[in-house]
Order: sequence, then C-alpha cells, then structure tokens
Amino acid sequence: MLVQVSEHCWVRQSSFCQSNTVVVRGDGGVLVVDPGVTGAELRSLAEELRSLGFSPVVGFSTHPHWDHMLWSRELGDPPRLATVDAVAHARASLTDAREKAGRLAPGNDLALVGLLDALPRDADSLDWPGPDVHVLHHRGHAPGHAALFVPADGVLVAGDMLSDVEVPLLDLKSGATDPLADYEQGLDVLEQVLDQGCRALVPGHGAVAADEGVRSRFHADRAYLDAVRRPSPVRDHRLDPGADYGPDWLIPEHEAQRSWCLAHDGG
Ligand SMILES: [Zn+2]
Repeated sequence: MLVQVSEHCWVRQSSFCQSNTVVVRGDGGVLVVDPGVTGAELRSLAEELRSLGFSPVVGFSTHPHWDHMLWSRELGDPPRLATVDAVAHARASLTDAREKAGRLAPGNDLALVGLLDALPRDADSLDWPGPDVHVLHHRGHAPGHAALFVPADGVLVAGDMLSDVEVPLLDLKSGATDPLADYEQGLDVLEQVLDQGCRALVPGHGAVAADEGVRSRFHADRAYLDAVRRPSPVRDHRLDPGADYGPDWLIPEHEAQRSWCLAHDGG
C-alpha cells in the first residue's frame, strides 16, 4: 500500500527484500522511482495510482540492478530515466537482469525490464512538471547510481545506500578500481542533503528514516566501511545471523567484500 511520507511523496514497500517504490506527485502526474517488484505488486501499484488519480509521467531507476528497473504496461509508457552510466550498464547486462527478474519476481513482463532512457550527462535535476527533484550522481553500489532529493519535502530517495537492513554493498563486479573509496565518496555526495533540510530518507530496501534517524544511517554506513577494512570481525546489527532480513545471502556478501577489502585496502 502507498503510504504518504511528505507533501509530495508516497512509499510502497514490496514483500521482496523490503524494496521501496517511491511516488512523487507533480502537477500533471507522478514520478515513479524504482517500481517493483513482483508482477502482481506492479499491477496493484498501478491500480492504487489510478484510484488516487495519479498518472505516471516519468519513471526513474536509481541504478541498473534488475530489481530497480522493472515496469508494467499498466503504468503507461512514459520515459523511464536513469543516468548515462546506468543506462549503458543496463543495456550491457540486460540478459542477466531479465533472467533474475524472471526467476525472482514472477509475473513480470520481461520485455520491459531495463528499458531505460539516459538523462543528459550530469543533469542535476529532473525536467518534469512537478516539484524540483535533484539528481545526485555518485559511484559506490552500482555503475551510474543516483539518488534523488526533493528539497520542498526534505526527502532523499537514496537507492541502495543507507539501509537499516543491508550493509553497504560495494560494486566489486563492474571493474571499478577502488570500490571502497567510491562508496565513501558516494556517502559524501548524499550527505550534503543534511545541510539542505533533509528530514526523511527512503532507502531502496528497508524502513524510511526520519529526522535524527537520517543522520544515524550515515553513521552506520560509515562505521561499516571503517570496520570492513580491518582484520577484526565487523559488528553491525544488519549482520545479525538471526535477523529477519537476508542473513542467508547478506552475510556471505559481507564476507566476500571483507576478503576483498583486506586483500586490496591494506587495513
Ligand atoms: Zn536493490
């Protein structure tokens, strides 16, 4: 169900990995960010939007991982935007993204997965009939990752950063030379919103953070990145083996990136 979190923003959480779809209300329609995840959920999202009188006029994918570049015909056929680098990666990895969507998110129209249009390079805001939406380009989790900030509402749509359930997941697969530094610099980019009235943060997966909780998310991600490069075990509540969220895959991912950091970062 769509839950309103600010004047212009609504969030709908999926049963798959607590994925968040964000809807931003403009003048003549809505911006839909990272819609997902199963086919049934996308149809239900489209129905909810119809019942609210919201028609999608633009889509946005924060990054080119399969669960962030889904779509349904029932959402219409507006431009679906992402950064230049995200679009290039999406095109290069389309077969893999569609295979994963087909396997993990039943009911999706696989032909629509990853059909993204590039924003102008370094565009710092979206050109759409609605409140200002800043595009914060950075590296870290995936090629061409971008967060969105809605200054009127103080809402940061963070993509796969700053989650209460997932530790930072570094981009170890796309050939970046220093994924750890990229991630830290990505946090620097996002952190600027703290001085711009950010009052709420919507992560790609997990719970919305508000007020002081926003700052805590930055502390938690930075603490993880400090710890993961050291030989001593990482203590982070998101890696609790008894957690409801993802210990079966998240802990192995963490161990893999810890090995990588210890081998590459020098401690
Ligand atoms: Zn994700």
